[in-house]
Amino acid sequence: MGQKLHILGAGREVGRAAIAVEREGRFILLDYGVTFDDNDIPVLPLTIPPSRIKAHIVTHSHLDHVGASPLLYISAEPRAYMTPITRDISRLMLYDFLKISSYYLPFETAEVDRFLGSVEPVDYGSERSIDGFTMRFSDAGHIPGSTMVLLETSGKRILYTGDVNTIETRLVGPADTSNMDAEVLIIESTYGDIDHADRRIVEDRLIESVKEVVENGGTVLIPAFSLSRSQEILALLAERLRNIPISYDGMIRPITEIMLRYKKYIRRPEALEEVEKRCIQVDSWSMRRKIWREPGVIVASAGMLKGGPALYYLKRIADNKNSAVFLVSYQGKNTPGRMLLEKGVFMENGPRVVARIEWFDFSAHAGRTGLLSIVKNLKSLEKIVIIHTDPDVGEAFANTVKRETGIDTILPRVGDVIEIL
Ligand SMILES: [Zn+2]
Ligand SMILES: [Zn+2]
Repeated sequence: MGQKLHILGAGREVGRAAIAVEREGRFILLDYGVTFDDNDIPVLPLTIPPSRIKAHIVTHSHLDHVGASPLLYISAEPRAYMTPITRDISRLMLYDFLKISSYYLPFETAEVDRFLGSVEPVDYGSERSIDGFTMRFSDAGHIPGSTMVLLETSGKRILYTGDVNTIETRLVGPADTSNMDAEVLIIESTYGDIDHADRRIVEDRLIESVKEVVENGGTVLIPAFSLSRSQEILALLAERLRNIPISYDGMIRPITEIMLRYKKYIRRPEALEEVEKRCIQVDSWSMRRKIWREPGVIVASAGMLKGGPALYYLKRIADNKNSAVFLVSYQGKNTPGRMLLEKGVFMENGPRVVARIEWFDFSAHAGRTGLLSIVKNLKSLEKIVIIHTDPDVGEAFANTVKRETGIDTILPRVGDVIEIL
């Protein structure tokens, strides 16, 4: 009997990853994330009957992969598989998500707790068998604890990359695709149309730019996601800027603490320990009110300037001609960060100008060449399903794959059902 893939989310869109593998009416669910509309209202994936889910695999703790998971735990309790660090960071992310968006969400803390209470922790190299499927996990190289998963049944294999990166960063090593050969590949393609600049060159450029601003008496604001990007940037700054005050603000600290509890998922834990020793944590309003008045660098959430302490600091430093905003995260459409980048202004009772704005590509997603190397490393591939992508980017990557390998590709829409084997 054949299997089907149900594209419950992430079809021609970046966000709400949710794919169900169906066999004889039962499901293995790969991620169950949310996305946000232009008004910041959460958009959930399509549903399947939770009682028929035999295993729920969560590749990592970003909300676009785990944000809707508690919804499955209202009427059922499917076993959930993830690394222990993903479980612990997901708890923080989901509680924070409820704090901000609870009005729009069909679940509460009880369902978050039920979900996290159903977790069976797995690790890189772990294998589990359930309902005729064997699952094997390996490092996806995206953020600490992120996994890819290989599903095998009746001798056929499906590899799901989750979000994946093929280069080493300050925080994590590259994805490990050894022993993950498959007939079907479900691959993300957030940046399937471009190659990122060399990471070391980007790092050098950021360090030089920060020095320039601070030596001129200015303050640098670096808005960054509190999960992973902040830690990577802080580790870089702490190592390379000896005499410049480095501060951080937002949910960065509790996430760093979890990372330091699970050192094996961090490439160089000593670099994160140095962050805790060397950098200043802003933990009170009195500190927040004065920290930006002195020359230095501040790393703060939210990464797209939609709120959080980053927005507070932006309003304070905007009119200072010596200050700068350095963006290091993806800037979604219609976000204040994107507007700042494109127009050099943000709106607060009319446009306000920031003297210096720069963008640095610290992506945690593989570019075209990295994604293509994953495809080429799998010797038995028959079919490639491209998800987690803007339609034109996915199209470009599909064309690259066809040209270079001749393998059959699909760029599904949300709601599509794909017969696979
Ligand atoms: Zn992610
Ligand atoms: Zn994602």
